[in-house]
Amino acid sequence: MSQPPTFLSSVMEQFDRAADYSDLPSGLIDQVRSCNSVYHLRFPVELEDGTIEVVEAYRAEHSHHRLPTKGGLRVSTEITEDEVTALAALMTFKCAVVGVPFGGAKGGICFDPNAPEAVRRRVIRRYTAELIEKNFVGPGVDVPAPDYGTGEQEMAWIADTYRALRGADLDAWGCVTGKPVTLHGIPGRIEATGLGVYYGISEVVAETDEMEKLGLSPGTEGKRVIVQGLGNVGSHAAACLQDEGGAIIVGVAEIDGGIYDPEGLDVAALLAHRAERGSILDFPGATNVPTWQDTIEMDCDILVPAAVEGAITAENAPRIKARIIAEAANGPVYSDAEPILAEMGTLLIPDVWLNAGGVTVSYFEWLKNLSHVSFDRMYKRYEEISTRRQLEATERLAGSAFPPEEMQILTRGPSEIDFVRSALQETMSESYRQIYDTWKSRGLPDMRTAAFLIAIERVAENYLALGIFP
Ligand code: NAD
Repeated sequence: MSQPPTFLSSVMEQFDRAADYSDLPSGLIDQVRSCNSVYHLRFPVELEDGTIEVVEAYRAEHSHHRLPTKGGLRVSTEITEDEVTALAALMTFKCAVVGVPFGGAKGGICFDPNAPEAVRRRVIRRYTAELIEKNFVGPGVDVPAPDYGTGEQEMAWIADTYRALRGADLDAWGCVTGKPVTLHGIPGRIEATGLGVYYGISEVVAETDEMEKLGLSPGTEGKRVIVQGLGNVGSHAAACLQDEGGAIIVGVAEIDGGIYDPEGLDVAALLAHRAERGSILDFPGATNVPTWQDTIEMDCDILVPAAVEGAITAENAPRIKARIIAEAANGPVYSDAEPILAEMGTLLIPDVWLNAGGVTVSYFEWLKNLSHVSFDRMYKRYEEISTRRQLEATERLAGSAFPPEEMQILTRGPSEIDFVRSALQETMSESYRQIYDTWKSRGLPDMRTAAFLIAIERVAENYLALGIFP
């Protein structure tokens, strides 16, 4: 039996499969494929008991065809250089697919994300200082964001460390995204990836022909969904699918086991239950399932893996019952599982497009930081005045007035979150059209190949335009 792939070899196999459909010169394809630089660092940190631990960390910048490079920062005891490199490559292709003008990057710190706050703060600050020293972070260089094991707090520490050491940089706040809103973050960033996953799934399941092939009705309404990983991405994807899409969340898989209820789990109540008990298990009305592996194999229409890479491989693929797998995490389905799923007729919605909501809204946050003004500030009141004038003219012509409460709703100017959400929805919708058209018009085997091919051709076009291939 052949060796199972690693995360990196899986991503590279997916890349190569798409590259086979391109007629670009092989040297140019190699450049698009290669990771430009990886910084591997080690530094000491003092733990709570006074002992010293040497921490291993990485920052991979996959492609400098566009600057800054962009990608999340993971904190986990399992981080490897291969993993960070694979994730950085996915970031390059993801940005290209959704038209976000960044190169791809990813960082990782091999450390316990649940360590005491004071220790985590020391680790993040030292990591940032080391990156500054080697020019691996900055608003025009490389811009981290949250990922597995990090969130707003870690981003705030990065921004503060950068400002302390590069205070004269007027654009210093643009050195990292996913910051708290009070520290020049943007409303909507926390839920952006999960919301984008919901927008993406909605686009795909609206396709009547494709749904017919799967024996499903179009739309998210009533679809039975299992989510793996109730973290940032998984919890918001589950909440949006349920609250906005009318889907039924029948199962949730977490690291310590799963729960299943064919009648549906209330996501808000489940999050409150976990906050109180520290686990999703023993949720009233639901049945406990021994492991996450068992949970993702249970009956549903859509499986949303939103936790870790390699959740579905050739080993368990034949037992997956979902008709659609929506890759909210990065790399949850390895390349060795794909032929098996294709044979089973399972529709795979690829990570390289589906979870791009996070980087898309990060792009908006970065733009806001560079322009030093929030998106609504220059437009909100103007929009209100202009809409009111139009409605008042309509009232004069019609000879009757809108009820005051309706007038108030109609003239409400857009807030920053309205801009963010609508631009995110537009990005997911427009990029889906391009993927779908490429998939069908070029006779490609699947959506992942179409998304990768779009990315390869766009990045290659940038390299050619830079004139580095005489
Ligand atoms: P997170 O740390 O907020 O949440 C991860 C959750 O998964 C946690 O609740 C954890 O307990 C759970 N988990 C870990 N291993 C598990 C397993 N084997 N089975 C079931 N649950 C498990 O992380 P996140 O930010 O939500 O990221 C999740 C995935 O989404 C990662 O692959 C990440 O790279 C990807 N992603 C995140 C973002 C973002 O904006 N945060 C953007 C794009 C992609």
